[in-house]
Amino acid sequence: MAIRFFLVLLVSTSICSLTFASDPSPLQDFCVAVDDAKASVFVNGKICKNPNMVSADDFYLSGLNKPGNTSNPLGSRVTPVNVNQIPGLNTLGISLVRIDYAPYGLNPPHTHPRATEILVVVEGTLYVGFVTSNPANPNQKNKLFTKTLHKGDVFVFPEGLVHFQFNTGKTNAVAFAGLSSQNPGVITIANAVFGSEPPISIDVLTKAFQVNKNVIKYLQGQFWINN
Ligand code: MN
Repeated sequence: MAIRFFLVLLVSTSICSLTFASDPSPLQDFCVAVDDAKASVFVNGKICKNPNMVSADDFYLSGLNKPGNTSNPLGSRVTPVNVNQIPGLNTLGISLVRIDYAPYGLNPPHTHPRATEILVVVEGTLYVGFVTSNPANPNQKNKLFTKTLHKGDVFVFPEGLVHFQFNTGKTNAVAFAGLSSQNPGVITIANAVFGSEPPISIDVLTKAFQVNKNVIKYLQGQFWINN
């Protein structure tokens, strides 16, 4: 009896966590995001544009054929297409990016707190990977999964996990990726840890990374860009 109760509890808990694992489902055809409350008609978590005033342009963006500018220390550029660029994506739980890589360009280790990412290479060669979260067993390690991708290859980065893409080719590379949130968010590991404003205490970082203060000072002195 106790086991049956436990199983019911387990199943209902996993159903609940599935329900809340991604953006909420829309309760209407669309809810085009709008800042001006006077132009809205109803509220369902977000202010929605009056459906009578919604047009095709609310669901449209042009220019994703144009390469992003990769002239930066990372040699990569992410061009986002989320609810901030297309207000019609509001509540729909999906978005897109174009990523350009110069030769040996890197999209550095980062996570999306709210989205799984599925990436397709349309030009060039990318070495990609992600790392699993801390294992329950302290004797095990965080596991790295990697793959070298060529034109037409697809790879998935599970929600929340640290991942990267590196252009190992001598030519430019281009990828597009879908993300399972209208607003996936990005946490670039180095930027968050060494580039925060104000900086994280050196005492915290020397202990966390088991290095001396000069290493942390050097890292905190770098120019951490958001690609
Ligand atoms: Mn990503």
